[in-house]
Formats: sequence, structure tokens, C-alpha cells
Amino acid sequence: MKNKILGIHHITAMASDAQRNVDFYVLVLGLRFVKKSINQDAPDVYHLYYGDEVGSPGTAMTFFPFGRASRGTRGNGEISRVGFSVPTISKDFWINHLSKKGISFSGPERKFENDIMTFLDPDGMMIELVFSDKQILKFPWKQGPIPVEHAIRNFFGVTMNLASLEASATVLNDVLGFHSVSQNGNTHRFLVGEGSDEAAIDIIVNPNIPFARQSAGSVHHIAWRAKDFVAHEEWQRFVEQGGLSPTEVIDRFYFHSIYFREPGGVLYEIASDNPGFTVDEPLDQLGTHLMLPPWYEIHREKIERTLPPISIPTFNEILK
Ligand code: ZN
Repeated sequence: MKNKILGIHHITAMASDAQRNVDFYVLVLGLRFVKKSINQDAPDVYHLYYGDEVGSPGTAMTFFPFGRASRGTRGNGEISRVGFSVPTISKDFWINHLSKKGISFSGPERKFENDIMTFLDPDGMMIELVFSDKQILKFPWKQGPIPVEHAIRNFFGVTMNLASLEASATVLNDVLGFHSVSQNGNTHRFLVGEGSDEAAIDIIVNPNIPFARQSAGSVHHIAWRAKDFVAHEEWQRFVEQGGLSPTEVIDRFYFHSIYFREPGGVLYEIASDNPGFTVDEPLDQLGTHLMLPPWYEIHREKIERTLPPISIPTFNEILK
């Protein structure tokens, strides 16, 4: 039997200004700020996490804000769009909400089976709101700025730009357990996961565009879900047997990770569902303190001095 990824765990992108990133993802998209931590490979940079009330796998959008970083340029070998699912009854709500926030958008327009709206985040990352009732809101953030009935559910999926399809499709199908479902022009859709956890990956194939240059506004990697530590270790073997070169298992404190580059150049991660973001903060305090993995605690004072201060919108500010 084929091994199958459970869906998307998280998506990590690069940003410039941290405060602008917080204001957009909390006040415009209505995601809960669930964790203020550091980039474990560059501890002078934040790692900011957003999601549903608990930061469930499948809702976790995360950023490395590099301050004055220039904008990346789109091209092959990267994820060019991040899709979030919202209910089909919510079109008017999102049109009005984005207009009120001064965000220019395209759509609603058809893409495969769904209507979508597209717009850019403050660093130029393209967001798709996908109107779909397939996905449900597992842990709604009741104190958020978006009424729960219109709130973002899960990631719907991502769009990748690649110079060629075949080798990348083989990894999706034969290693990660995706199946190919449809094609529209040079866009190919693959699906993985069951029911509400299903995730789509749309691959746009065009050999005539240059490679992306990654910086602010670029997606750094996508992480796929593994159920627990045991399944995660098995995935490391499956990926290796699939002819790829995964890293060793890395303890990211909130999950275990392995990383590998797929043949088209996109960085993939596989992350465990456990232990999750409530491992070091109670639910009602998620995102309120700078949280460091225990092995960084001895450097806390220096890290706190280096990071720019950010303020997380409070419930009262959100109501404005
Ligand atoms: Zn990651």
C-alpha cells in the first residue's frame, strides 16, 4: 500500500517588517497569532506563527521577518501562491472586508472546481482565498476579527511554478502519495489527504521563465503532515528510499522535522502533528511571550535585545 501524507502541516515564508506582517495576518486575514519564537537556524530573526485557535496542523502559516529584506522575484522552483479555504457563503463578506481594509484583489473567478479571490500580502506573497465547503474549522478563534462563519478554515493548497513536470510529479505520486486529478492548460492539480484535511497542489509548468529569486514575499518551504514521531521516522526512510536526500530528524520543539528538496527545486519538509504549540504556553496565552526552545534559553537576554519589538493586536484593537 502506498504511504500517504495526511495533508499540509504548515507553510513558511519570508517577510520584511515584522509588525506589518502581524497586522496583516491578524487584522486582515483574521488568523490567530499563536507563537512568537525565533528562527532556530538564525536566532536573531523571529519565527512568527499564525493559525486557528490552537495553530492546528493545516492552518499554520509562519514567517521569518528579515527586517529590511528586499522583495523576492517570482519564477520557477518555488511556491508562488498560498491558498486558504473559506466557505462558499462568504464571498460578499470577503469582498467587503478586503475593500474596507484597502486591499486590492482580483476575482471572484473560477479555478478548477472553485471560485477564488487573489491578492498580495504586504511583502508581495500571493494569497488565494478558495471558496470551498469541503474543509471545516476545527478550532475557531472566537475572539478574532472575522466572524467564525466566514473565517479561514484550512490551507486549501498551494501553487508551484516549475520548469518541467515529470520528476516532481513522480515524487508527489510515488513518494508522498498524491494523485493527479485534473489539468487545465499548463496547470496540473494533484491531491492528497482525506476529507477536510485534503490538500491540493497546482503545478504551473513553463520552461521559459527564469528561476525565482527568494527574499521577502517568497515561500521558503511547505511542510507536509505526519501523524506522530513514529510515522515521522518512517517518512524519513520512505523519502530516502524514494531517491531523495532527507535531513536527519530535527527537533523543532513544536514538532519534529525532516527537509528535502524536490527535483524542481522546491524545499519540502515533513513535520509531526505532535506536540504542537500548547507544549510551552497555555491555550489562552498563545503568542503572548517570546518562546525559545529550551536549548536557546541561555541566550535569551541577547536574543531579546536583538529582536525588534512587535505588538500583537489585543481583543479591543481587533474590535475597532
Ligand atoms: Zn517548517
